[in-house]
Amino acid sequence: RAKAAGGNRYELADADSDARAIARHSLTNRLPAALDNGEFFIEYQPLVALGDGTVRGAEALVRWLHPVHGVLGPDQFIPLAEGTGLIVPLGRWVLEEAARQARLWRDAGTCREPMRVNVNLSPSQLRYPSLVADTVAVLEDAGLDPSALCLEVTENALIGADERELRPLRQLADMGVDIALDDFGTGYSNLSYLRRLPVSTLKLDRSFTRGMQSAPADPVDVKIVEGIVSLAHTLDLSVTVEGVETGIQAAHLRMLGCDTAQGWYYARPGPPDRLCALSLVDAASAPAP
Ligand code: C2E
Ligand code: MG
Ligand code: MG
Ligand code: MG
Repeated sequence: RAKAAGGNRYELADADSDARAIARHSLTNRLPAALDNGEFFIEYQPLVALGDGTVRGAEALVRWLHPVHGVLGPDQFIPLAEGTGLIVPLGRWVLEEAARQARLWRDAGTCREPMRVNVNLSPSQLRYPSLVADTVAVLEDAGLDPSALCLEVTENALIGADERELRPLRQLADMGVDIALDDFGTGYSNLSYLRRLPVSTLKLDRSFTRGMQSAPADPVDVKIVEGIVSLAHTLDLSVTVEGVETGIQAAHLRMLGCDTAQGWYYARPGPPDRLCALSLVDAASAPAP
């Protein structure tokens, strides 16, 4: 059987990739209708201050409730939306929703101040001419201060950007919007380029903290994180760590001086009301401000 399958391997792989191409094509075609029909929704994952364990906000993570395939994660459709330009209206919708939600949290006193909602920006959104004006309008409509918004941009999206291409981000940063470098450490970055970017937060990629999930921690990972934290703090950048899955890891990262954490140890991404419930728990257990 193995031999027969082996003989057909090329053809099978081909049929498989055809099927995948067809699936991609049909998902891509449905994207505009999905946006019109309200099939996208956002889950929020809390951002926790490592110093006192309080919830300071959340990252908005988009999902698609597809009528046939069920819930699809962003990795399954963001690249498609990016390819067709639909990412621009979709991204604007995410921003509007997240800003509206952040205003509700702020009014309800859900998060300890300074409270922030994080929204991911894709490369096409960065290049879109009205990014700054659109963002300002969304913040105004929501009645939200720019400092309550953090835009996450991946390292790869910024590599090679010249001063003109960075101008919109710099304008947003000057207004008080926090800009975070997402998945930091996974690109081909030359650390000296950090000085040229209008970023105020590094989001350290999960791959650097995996070695600290259990004791003893991987000594090389510890050294790397220690080095990045010290560099970041020297440059006045705050450090957020993603993918914190265990208490041991959280304790390590706090000891290493990381500022904020996000991960399954605290909470998986979930509906907005979950953040309120989490904050009630931490308000009861955290030391008074
Ligand atoms: P990201 O911005 O790096 O988001 C973090 C991802 O790690 C999320 O996956 C989150 O669910 C996952 N994660 C969080 N904590 C843990 C943990 O403790 N362990 C592990 N193993 N994973 C954890 P998700 O939701 O599938 O999002 C994937 C990526 O999709 C995001 O990566 C982001 O780049 C992109 N994305 C999500 N929403 C949007 C959006 O609205 N616009 C754009 N342009 N991109 C988005
Ligand atoms: Mg992100
Ligand atoms: Mg990330
Ligand atoms: Mg990541």
